[in-house]
Amino acid sequence: MKLIVQKFGGTSVANQERRNMVVNKVEFAKKKDYFPVVVVSAIGRNGDPYATDTLINLAKSVGIETSPRELDLLMSCGEIISCVVLSNTLKRMGYECKVLTGGQAGIITDDNYGDAEVLKVEPEKILDCIENNIIPIVAGFQGITEDGNITTLGRGGSDVTASIIGEAINAEIVEIYTDVDGVMTADPAIVPDAKVMDTVFYNEIFQMAEYGANVIHPRAVEIAMRSNIPLLIKSALTENTGTLITNYDKSRRYRYDKNDKLITAIAQIDNRTQFRIKFDGSTNQYERDNILFNIIAAENISIDMINIYPDTKIFIIDSINSSKLVSILKSQSYNFDVTPNCTKVTIIGNKMRGIPGVMAKVIEGLSESKIEVLQTSDSHTTISCLIKSENTNIAVNALHEKFELGKTK
Ligand code: ADP
Ligand code: MG
Repeated sequence: MKLIVQKFGGTSVANQERRNMVVNKVEFAKKKDYFPVVVVSAIGRNGDPYATDTLINLAKSVGIETSPRELDLLMSCGEIISCVVLSNTLKRMGYECKVLTGGQAGIITDDNYGDAEVLKVEPEKILDCIENNIIPIVAGFQGITEDGNITTLGRGGSDVTASIIGEAINAEIVEIYTDVDGVMTADPAIVPDAKVMDTVFYNEIFQMAEYGANVIHPRAVEIAMRSNIPLLIKSALTENTGTLITNYDKSRRYRYDKNDKLITAIAQIDNRTQFRIKFDGSTNQYERDNILFNIIAAENISIDMINIYPDTKIFIIDSINSSKLVSILKSQSYNFDVTPNCTKVTIIGNKMRGIPGVMAKVIEGLSESKIEVLQTSDSHTTISCLIKSENTNIAVNALHEKFELGKTK
């Protein structure tokens, strides 16, 4: 039997009208001789009664901090509620369904609450349902530890649930339904001219996700890639075909698209803070270098865009860790500058590999818009620029235009 995983994001199940549309997607899969396994996120967005952020704020309102273990317990409820409501919707249309929590679906994780890693999947209960012609409705974003504690997989974790189940049951394809028509050349919330792409390669979408495009979780891409399961990202609200994500070989024919561009997409990630650590040439400078990076690592602060010069070390961190790092550096008497409110904007594209002049074009695009570049970093297939967050919209639109990624080109 051909198996398909269909994952529905928060907005796709936000109200009854939308849940009825989910039924159409399930029905369509069945008509095409697929047996569906459905994965669901919590209903709606912050402010909606059962959305994840609403639940977190409810616990916060008591005025004390929720422990990580209990926070995961609380957050896992959103998906369970969503599953039961969707299950009823499908049952009303005559389908037999069974709701499974992440743990019941066999998703076993470590105990890193809030961002747990899946250790293994024991899909027997899912397979049991399938054998008995019952559609499993699985709560996304959650798992269980070996000793029975409920965990969550981090923001966007329902995508991970979908991929990891797809891998465990050997699904033909994993469909990710969301509130946009597919993977676009930039975040449509920032770039009105952004265009839906028909196909993207795993490595490109992985980079997009890593560099901030939250349309899919990077780990979900990684899992699909290692087991070579195609991912199809599409809208729950329209009939559009969406974006197919496969590997290079399988979709070779797409390489000959005459519209191929040097750059595939632009992504951005905000809430970055830049640190510049200056050295005065004192005799123990090498030792100080060593100590600096060891302290940062010991505090579990991840650093990025690292530029090292004899007299200066520059890097960025997630602003959430900013005050922690400032107090460490002060306590060790380092001489440093901090630039808060930064955004890392990245252009991504397999085709820029080895092509000269791409950086020149980036800088040209940004300077034409009078945007100061604070720092850059690059790889074979990406170029990132750090800018002030207040310039994000102008910068992303300028680069999108410069590389002719839009619908109007
Ligand atoms: P869901 O709840 O369905 O998982 P998300 O909010 O996690 O939805 O992801 C969908 C959102 O991702 C879109 O509304 C869009 O604003 C954002 N997004 C960011 N970058 C991109 C991109 N390159 N293509 C499509 N959507 C993007
Ligand atoms: Mg998401």
